[in-house]
Amino acid sequence: MKSLLKIGGARAWRALVIKGLAAAGVMTLAACAYNESLGRNQLLFVSQGQMAQLASSAWTDLKQKEPITNEAKYVNRVNRVAPKIIRAAGGNPAEWEVRVFKSDQINAFALPGGKIGIYTGILDIMENDAQIAAVMGHEVAHVNFNHSGERYSQAAAAQTALSAGSAIAGGGQVSSAAVQALGIGAQYGVLLPFSRKHELEADKFGVRYMARAGYNPNEAVKFWEKMAAQKSGAPPEFLSSHPSDATRIAQLKKEIALLRSGS
Ligand SMILES: [Zn+2]
Repeated sequence: MKSLLKIGGARAWRALVIKGLAAAGVMTLAACAYNESLGRNQLLFVSQGQMAQLASSAWTDLKQKEPITNEAKYVNRVNRVAPKIIRAAGGNPAEWEVRVFKSDQINAFALPGGKIGIYTGILDIMENDAQIAAVMGHEVAHVNFNHSGERYSQAAAAQTALSAGSAIAGGGQVSSAAVQALGIGAQYGVLLPFSRKHELEADKFGVRYMARAGYNPNEAVKFWEKMAAQKSGAPPEFLSSHPSDATRIAQLKKEIALLRSGS
């Protein structure tokens, strides 16, 4: 598996991290904000906008290093679904960028600042538009709820022994925290797994978005079951080892039942 950690080189990452830290005023101020939709507090040192800044160079590098395809059979499907999901999630499709990467990887991801990457490998096994919508809804939910910002903040909070000054000078640990927060790591090629809590939230809101966009939410269950059955090689972003497949499929079914009952 190719290491995407190296994209842009260490210096570029350090610059990115310093920029991110400066923007965040990192470690000078802790913010714990209640998110009403999620029904819980989020530890956030960084805003959506700051995470978007952090992600933008990574996205540019990624597009230079990974082959993008304009093949109609992929792009047409993706361009048909993406705007509907983005709108259903409360966004403006004109502010998002969606790219299809030519790779056998069964994977997809979204980055802060409205970037969606989807691989031809996963599109090849999707039976219909609703399944594309299920995966996109999940990824867009991670962005909407600033899950990577939370991951970044948790990593920063865990580094209390490190002063901001030495972090900036040394790069090392904070840089790996930023890389991890964005989810662009060597371990899985592109994405590091989110926590169980984040995955379940992305599933829950993802299925709402797809239903709101007019897709049959049962296709999400079908797709997740199919993914669970054919685990091999690097797990897709949305199928990390936790939560268990049974847990997330049960939650999806519960959520769909709620949608059906109109609550
Ligand atoms: Zn996910």
